[in-house]
Amino acid sequence: MCRLSVVIPAFNEEPMISRTVGVLREILGSAGISWEIVFVDDGSTDQTWEQIGREASLDSRVTGLCFSRNFGKEAAIIAGLAKACGEAVAVMDCDLQHPPELLPEMFRLWEEGYEIVEGVKEDRGEESLFHKRGAGLFYRLMSRAVGVDMKNSSDFKLLDQKAVQSILSMPERNMFFRAASSWVGYRTVKVPFEVQARETGQSKWSVRSLFGYAFTNIVSFTTVPLQFVTIGGTVCLVLSLILTVYSLIQYFSGHAVEGYTTILIVLLFIGSSVMMSLGVIGYYIARIFEEVKSRPRYIVSRVLGGNRRESSEKAADHQTQFSGKEEILEKYDSKNI
Ligand code: UDP
Ligand code: MG
Repeated sequence: MCRLSVVIPAFNEEPMISRTVGVLREILGSAGISWEIVFVDDGSTDQTWEQIGREASLDSRVTGLCFSRNFGKEAAIIAGLAKACGEAVAVMDCDLQHPPELLPEMFRLWEEGYEIVEGVKEDRGEESLFHKRGAGLFYRLMSRAVGVDMKNSSDFKLLDQKAVQSILSMPERNMFFRAASSWVGYRTVKVPFEVQARETGQSKWSVRSLFGYAFTNIVSFTTVPLQFVTIGGTVCLVLSLILTVYSLIQYFSGHAVEGYTTILIVLLFIGSSVMMSLGVIGYYIARIFEEVKSRPRYIVSRVLGGNRRESSEKAADHQTQFSGKEEILEKYDSKNI
């Protein structure tokens, strides 16, 4: 059993795989830490999986999982955590934007007794003003929801195997790793780091996908938007009371209230707030529907390495569980249902 597993989600990271393995081998080797790398290929369309296979054939400490399609970074992290067998497990990006030189220091902190070592962004790197503001608002909302300061938090973390098991025991399908790892508690320490520039390839996030990501994660972790609906309803009630008093005064003092315009404005205002509230509630119902269906978070199509007993057992569990589902899906497909 190795001491440190490094989980790396990879989506179309073909040029980065061997580079990342090389850098980690050197850094962890010279720090004298026994390690393994768990790559999770999140349904890449390039040669990422072949690259992972090549590295695994050269060094048995490199292992990997391949998803049957793109399930997203969160699912990839969870799959990696489930396969990792180290006493401590680190999660980092494949593009080396999370500085691997920090890993030995994070590992030492873990040895000192910290169970969660969080990488905190000191500098958000080359990001647009829009991106910075958006991230600021997102983390303020999330911080309120989880009751933990989430500003500048990242997925760059080192966790004790105990914390990993706690996160894996959370049953929800829509997991937000950063929030979940704060939520589980444990002795935590923060390590500041500077976001490095991406070496090659492109960021996988478009503005649209970032919005989708933000919405899904806010809804999966907090009910604050539902409170907005209540607040909106209260504001409407107060406004309608004021309007009622005003109309009655006008009526009894012998003036007719200007009818058409007022009614139109009130109707439009109430109509649109009701629709918006329904939208927010609908979003939550959709999430509940997704959770209730309880589909697997991801489907593993191929597994590499894992010759260590524990990890192969875990991988086998996933394989049987998921290949069974794949077969069922195939059956349905063939009947065109
Ligand atoms: N990633 C993934 N699945 C996705 C998108 C991204 O596994 O659907 C991985 C990607 O390969 C990288 C990490 O998540 O290792 C961070 O992605 P990226 O660098 O594109 O995001 P950014 O650094 O811009 O936040
Ligand atoms: Mg990146």
